[in-house]
Amino acid sequence: MNLMVFGAPGAGKGTQAKFLIEKYGIPQISTGDILRAAIADKTAMGMEAKKFMDEGKLVPDSTIIGIIKDRLAQDDCKNGFILDGFPRTLPQAEALRDLMNDMNISLDKVISLNVPDSLIVGRITGRRVCPDCGASFHVEFNPSKVEDICDYCGGKLMVRKDDNAETVKSRLGAYHEQTAPLIAFYKDMGVMVELDGTKDVGEVTKDMFKAIG
Ligand code: ADP
Ligand code: ADP
Ligand code: ZN
Repeated sequence: MNLMVFGAPGAGKGTQAKFLIEKYGIPQISTGDILRAAIADKTAMGMEAKKFMDEGKLVPDSTIIGIIKDRLAQDDCKNGFILDGFPRTLPQAEALRDLMNDMNISLDKVISLNVPDSLIVGRITGRRVCPDCGASFHVEFNPSKVEDICDYCGGKLMVRKDDNAETVKSRLGAYHEQTAPLIAFYKDMGVMVELDGTKDVGEVTKDMFKAIG
């Protein structure tokens, strides 16, 4: 099963991807998590990407496409994968299409989580993430069982550097300008499923599983 979760920053992609991992036993490929790991390791790629991320801008396509090529070639992707936060531009979507064609595989479903901008700021400023496994929680809407501790791995939750009201504006701008046009791209491919991402986490999960079938 080759899946993609799609939507604005803070729409709930990472949260729902965790439930897909549990159900299908396939890995989540989050370009944001991969970039943050590169920053933590202080690699040259990470240091370059950090400048864009701190400003809420998209990292250049060539960097991102390189990351995905390497990642999809790894063994654990053989039975499928969940793309989260990739692609975010038309050139990225075209590169993915070509890469998957070369691999003789295709996308089964693109799950779009639709959430209006007015709800995004509150989601992002209340987000707490696990630096160890990438899980995300919300202080009010989706709290961890123990305060500041990850439910999945026991890691200590933190606030992401780019999760502030200032950066959210440019990230939403980038989403509408560069990423939202992909909705039409995937509708044309016949794989797009649009869900109401404003419902509770559990309701969205139910709708998602129903849509995947
Ligand atoms: P994305 O991966 O799309 O950026 P996340 O999955 O990290 O988004 O979710 C953003 C924030 O919103 C997190 O704090 C998360 O706990 C919270 N959240 C996710 N889904 C919902 C939902 N359906 N309702 C309310 N809050 C949600
Ligand atoms: P969110 O879902 O909250 O936007 P992500 O973790 O997916 O968070 O992304 C964080 C940042 O990493 C983005 O603002 C962007 O700078 C960079 N990034 C992640 N994925 C991509 C991508 N596919 N293309 C370009 N930049 C990306
Ligand atoms: Zn964790």
